[in-house]
Amino acid sequence: MPLTPTQFLDAVARDRAALAVGQAPRGVFTCADCGVPLQETVTGNRPCGEGIHLCSDCYFDEFGRELDVHPISAFRVVRGA
Ligand SMILES: [Zn+2]
Repeated sequence: MPLTPTQFLDAVARDRAALAVGQAPRGVFTCADCGVPLQETVTGNRPCGEGIHLCSDCYFDEFGRELDVHPISAFRVVRGA
């Protein structure tokens, strides 16, 4: 059954209040690492495998650690050496 405009606005207000205190409303993913409720435009929302979502901060922290271990380097061809 669709929500009436008043019910919709009430639901939005409840979800915003829950997010403001760090609780994830129904249907909102939380970061698998730090537990913050994920909002695409605020925290980012990066799916990382089966049901695992990370915020952008945790995703890039992890990405940076992997780059430290496995740095990206261009293939170098030494000619005439
Ligand atoms: Zn996180």
